[in-house]
Amino acid sequence: MARKRVIIVGGGYAGVQALKTLAAWGECDVVLIDQHPYHYLQTEAYELIANECSMTRVMIDLVALCLSYGNHVTYIKDTIREVDYEAKHIIGNISGHSYDYLLLCTGSRTAYNGGTEGLRQYSHGVKTLQSALSFKQQFEQRLYQRMESEGGWCAEPFNIVIGGGGLSGVEIAAEMANYIRVFHKDNTLTCDNIHIFLIIPHETVLEGMEEYLIKHATKRLIQLGVNIINHSRITSVQEHALTLNGSEAVCFDFMIFTGGIVASTLTEGMKVAKNKKSQLIVDEYMRVVEYDGVFAAGDIAELHDLEGKLVPPTAQGAEASGLSAAMNILALIQGNPMSPSNIKLKGMMIALGGNYASVSLLGWIRFSGVVGYVIKAIIMRGYRYLLHRQCAKGVELIPQNKRTCRMGF
Ligand SMILES: Cc1cc2nc3c(=O)[nH]c(=O)nc-3n(C[C@H](O)[C@H](O)[C@H](O)COP(=O)(O)OP(=O)(O)OC[C@H]3O[C@@H](n4cnc5c(N)ncnc54)[C@H](O)[C@@H]3O)c2cc1C
Repeated sequence: MARKRVIIVGGGYAGVQALKTLAAWGECDVVLIDQHPYHYLQTEAYELIANECSMTRVMIDLVALCLSYGNHVTYIKDTIREVDYEAKHIIGNISGHSYDYLLLCTGSRTAYNGGTEGLRQYSHGVKTLQSALSFKQQFEQRLYQRMESEGGWCAEPFNIVIGGGGLSGVEIAAEMANYIRVFHKDNTLTCDNIHIFLIIPHETVLEGMEEYLIKHATKRLIQLGVNIINHSRITSVQEHALTLNGSEAVCFDFMIFTGGIVASTLTEGMKVAKNKKSQLIVDEYMRVVEYDGVFAAGDIAELHDLEGKLVPPTAQGAEASGLSAAMNILALIQGNPMSPSNIKLKGMMIALGGNYASVSLLGWIRFSGVVGYVIKAIIMRGYRYLLHRQCAKGVELIPQNKRTCRMGF
């Protein structure tokens, strides 16, 4: 029997988990296509933004990763534009490829609130590594220019606005506040006048999450000097000012927007069931039932647990759904019955600036502070370490003269 060809589009948390599962089995050809040659560790983006780590700490080299599994696994750098689901053929900017099974893992992008005027133009995002880097560089430039032009310190207030009180908004607000606190401590005279505003539409941050996490995150944000402006919607944005709830104006020097997601643009051309965030409605086996041989995992799909409860878009959910989709593709190739996906979040870990985090795991392990930070760091570093170790095997296979520009080594 001819070997089946599985194409995974998107090397994020879902795609990499699926890749590991399919590649380890070895009985099919696996092609991973991503527009970037790295897996971006979004869950550690807050550290990059706050200068706690370098760019290479949040990247996993997809070329080396694919090489490490052997000849049956290939990485292709391309941006997929459309899919011919009848012909089982995908079309990218550079090339086209046929598949037996297709797994869509292209994630999500920032939702710019139905086109709120100026929001996309004047705010920074952190969903991609490029946007996170650009934010970090521009922020430091702006701060530097301000200090230069004002005779050594920020005489005028320097306002940073963060829109969105979910996981990423809270982590970024806390990490930046901590960064500024350290900056101020190290340079006592300068920058005593930087303010962070976290604008949230609900009563509290982390709406819908466990009370324990909400309480500790709020306490820590206040302790770090973050101004939480609740019950507020951003209704328009200009270059250095925004309007809240249609009237109140807030001036800012820098703005980050993290207020929600919509599925990747790849879903736009798909004539299938989708939710309001354009996420694909998949069945319990992670199949896009309208098309033969097509699966979807991660943020691109609406995920549910075994009881049918909605699972929020997280790296954990992406990994679990990527695993489930890959296992079911394997089952079909082997002629075995598929198994319903069992997506369970083991808990939540929220970085809250410096060596401080709040974690709630398995419904009973709860810690805030340094212990929370250590637990989060161990889990995050463990994820990165295992992938780097696998990549190292791939790097060994790259000819010596082509190794120099590979990342992370
Ligand atoms: C700042 C921040 C902090 C976060 N913190 C946490 C946290 O602490 N815990 C947690 O669980 N979750 C966290 N999340 C959410 C988590 O990162 C996402 O839920 C997760 O990344 C989703 O994984 P995914 O595989 O679906 O998509 P992604 O990880 O986004 O990967 C999608 C991949 O698809 C590729 N791609 C997209 N379109 C195309 C195309 N057309 N052609 C080819 N390739 C394409 C992209 O390059 C990317 O590599 C955070 C998110 C952010 C932004």
